[in-house]
Amino acid sequence: MESVSPRAINQMHKEVDSQKTSVDVVIVGAGFAGLLMLYQTRALGLSARVYERGSDVGGTWFWNRYPGARCDTESLEYSYQFSTELFREWKWSERFATQAELLRYAQHVARKFDLYKNIHLNSAVEKSHYDEKTRKWFTTTSRGESLASDFLILATGCLSTAHLPEIPGMERFRGRVYHTGNWPKEGVDFSDQVVGIVGTGSSAVQVIPTIAPQLRHLYVFQRTANYVVPAWNGKIPNDYEAAVMADPISFRHNNAKMIRAHGFRNRGKDTSALSVSREEVERDLERRWNIGGLNFLDGFNDLLTSSEANKIAAEFVKSKIRKIVKNPAVSELLCPRHPIGCKRVSVGDGYYESFNSGNVTLVDISQSGIHRLGEESIETDRTSYRCDSLIFATGFDAMTGPILSIQITGRNGLTLREKWSEGPRNYLGLSVCGFPNLFIMTGPGSPSVLTNMHVSIDQHAAWISRCIQSMKLRQLSEIEATEESEARWIDTVTEIASNTIFPSCNSWYLGANIPNKPRMFMPYIGFPSYERKCREIEENDYLGFKLA
Ligand code: NAP
Repeated sequence: MESVSPRAINQMHKEVDSQKTSVDVVIVGAGFAGLLMLYQTRALGLSARVYERGSDVGGTWFWNRYPGARCDTESLEYSYQFSTELFREWKWSERFATQAELLRYAQHVARKFDLYKNIHLNSAVEKSHYDEKTRKWFTTTSRGESLASDFLILATGCLSTAHLPEIPGMERFRGRVYHTGNWPKEGVDFSDQVVGIVGTGSSAVQVIPTIAPQLRHLYVFQRTANYVVPAWNGKIPNDYEAAVMADPISFRHNNAKMIRAHGFRNRGKDTSALSVSREEVERDLERRWNIGGLNFLDGFNDLLTSSEANKIAAEFVKSKIRKIVKNPAVSELLCPRHPIGCKRVSVGDGYYESFNSGNVTLVDISQSGIHRLGEESIETDRTSYRCDSLIFATGFDAMTGPILSIQITGRNGLTLREKWSEGPRNYLGLSVCGFPNLFIMTGPGSPSVLTNMHVSIDQHAAWISRCIQSMKLRQLSEIEATEESEARWIDTVTEIASNTIFPSCNSWYLGANIPNKPRMFMPYIGFPSYERKCREIEENDYLGFKLA
């Protein structure tokens, strides 16, 4: 018998899939969330199709290819845990994985579980509308494909709509302009160039020490100084890896007990930093500084809730900056003025050290911003800096940007953009009143960006698939949040945040980085209580939802 290659089988599957006019589930996005959602829905015997705007899977790790890009959550934690076989077979080469390794991992998962056959690449979803008569979503893509589905699941990511600020003269600049969130696939050779980088958030913190050694000069345009803790990246110790691999289930279970769903092994005390001596708090911060990574603020239970306790940690980092950066005027400029943690703390090696190098200049634009771009310069109110290329590490229209870039229309012709004109109102972050059978993965209103994304993705994929399964078994055709549950949920999310230092500065968590974006603290703080609430709601026959 003639053998058929796996590639040909895949192609055949794809052709059959393409001929469908209706499926159970349409999933938007083939990042880590979309891939798991596809896997879960198929495991239930449902038909599903994923539309992905990129030319491959990977989401964040497909687009963010800038020099030095790597994850700030440890590799063993930032990986899928739904399959112990997958968990054990993939060997991470470093404690914090690079973008390239994370992308290879996403591709490996898509191949291993034969996911590519239901993924349409290079297909950006442009519109989706709910038809109340047929109770179906109708989705169309940039390639003119259209498909009906019972459910629409947005797995569009939280940091996937790059924000390029409007600066006068942008069109005049003759050099190359890059955004970290949209980096060219082929890479960029900056050798011997003079480069200007705008922004000092997590992306810039990784770019700066990586490219500075190859440049003639680097100008860093800083509007707000940033807290950066070291990663001390390196190989994963063999004994630690072996212990995790011996019992992945407990590893996962323990991490999910943490407020941010990671770092159980570096968990702190459930006591206030103000209940012990300042020396004891500083000793713990020193220990955590030497461990590296995002658990720096986990030592005591009030470093993110009490401004007095927070100040101790903030001062600790500033004392480190003053020790590392030799020029006192530069180190003062690098010392942040806001509470530590209200904007995301960055993790990276060698950031502050870069400013000791003769070819790196910090330009303070905190008072008057960037005035304009010239043909070969970037200009502040006082000085013109000649640059060959510019890098914008200016962040994203976070959490809502990717969702609202699609024209989503629910009941009575209401668009999601209209519904969310004053902020992303929803229930559990999962469901929106007026938009039946639409689910959002790791969106605003859920713990999402304040957690290890893999844990949140896993929880959402499991919850949504159980919900769909239950509806199919009970022959129900609609599920939708009620207006009351939505209002209560938004109050809950806001109230939890108001007891912390999070809303105290202009962060992207609040939408404050995007001109005219409505201000609303978007993530729900506290993975364990969120997970518990979702479980209780499910056990109480989807309390707060209308079922039909
Ligand atoms: P970001 O944190 O939003 O930082 C953007 C930077 O650009 C800020 O310094 C901001 O200053 C500045 N900026 C924005 N608009 C500006 C303007 N018009 N003029 C001058 N400066 C301007 O963006 P990001 O660094 O891309 O990081 C976003 C998030 O992605 C992170 O918080 C993190 O969650 C994630 N991320 C993670 C990793 C990792 O895992 N290692 C790496 C990169 C990113 P202001 O502070 O004054 O607004």
